[in-house]
Amino acid sequence: MHTCRDCKQSFQTELALELHRDTCTKGQLFCQVCGDRFREAEATQDGWHYDCPDVECDGGGLQEDLFRVEDIRTATH
Ligand SMILES: [Zn+2]
Ligand SMILES: [Zn+2]
Repeated sequence: MHTCRDCKQSFQTELALELHRDTCTKGQLFCQVCGDRFREAEATQDGWHYDCPDVECDGGGLQEDLFRVEDIRTATH
């Protein structure tokens, strides 16, 4: 069983989970430094300063290291 750690939905296969991750509304931010995804609320306290929630990761700053999955999708199409 593969579970999306953002919305806790479970999937039978890893592929199904991967596909879901692209559309998951709970994993909207993407860190290009560590490649992780997380909720916007996890990356910011005040909606102004953004930091990667991964303590091991130096990524930070919206549109610098952190991007909205939505924006990436629009940009590449
Ligand atoms: Zn999800
Ligand atoms: Zn990161």
